[in-house]
Amino acid sequence: MRFTFSDFLFGRVRLVRRRRRLPETPEVAALRAEAKRVLPARLRELALQHGFSYNSVRIKHNVSNWGSCSAKGNINLNLNLMRLPEELRDYVLLHELCHLRYLNHGPEFHALLESVCPEHRSLRRRLKEWKLI
Ligand SMILES: [Zn+2]
Repeated sequence: MRFTFSDFLFGRVRLVRRRRRLPETPEVAALRAEAKRVLPARLRELALQHGFSYNSVRIKHNVSNWGSCSAKGNINLNLNLMRLPEELRDYVLLHELCHLRYLNHGPEFHALLESVCPEHRSLRRRLKEWKLI
């Protein structure tokens, strides 16, 4: 099949193919379901406990981070968090909640993290032993 200039002009040919998602394995699908059930509720609990307020929370699947926080207060949490022991999971959630006040990893951020999670240094070391899948 050949395409003419007017096909491009009227959008009949997609120049940029939409990014295709990898088929989700049963293991990942199970982690996602569990993550949706557990993580938003736990984040809400920790936020209330420590006086943080965020805008939204979403469950993500990537191999680049355990979680992230945007300047708009939107928190993303990796479904891999469900594979972690609870104290490591809470550490990541508290870390992201602290980013609501400081978007960097400067001294103020660390002081805040220290106040809500005094054992954050050892938890951070332990987290490094885990790989994202
Ligand atoms: Zn961070």
